[in-house]
Amino acid sequence: MSREDDPAGHPNYAAMDVVIAKFKRNRDHKACPRVLKEVMAAAGVEITVSTCRPLVIGPYTQPPYTCPHGTRFWIEPTGEQIAQWAQDETP
Ligand SMILES: [Zn+2]
Repeated sequence: MSREDDPAGHPNYAAMDVVIAKFKRNRDHKACPRVLKEVMAAAGVEITVSTCRPLVIGPYTQPPYTCPHGTRFWIEPTGEQIAQWAQDETP
């Protein structure tokens, strides 16, 4: 199988599982939100990270990711990311 980059700018949940595995190995809890952002950016998705459950469940809301230290992080694509996806899908 040839190695190909994931299509940037689209949520690819299978690829996210791979990058999230990296997040799960992070040892420094202070770095957890940053590492989560970095691994998602590496998968082509710009996100915001919060330890608070979102007030509104939006179309991009996913179950939280639990870091190796037991903290749950909710992630949402940034406004810019959502705008980019909308632009990509415009014929
Ligand atoms: Zn942590």
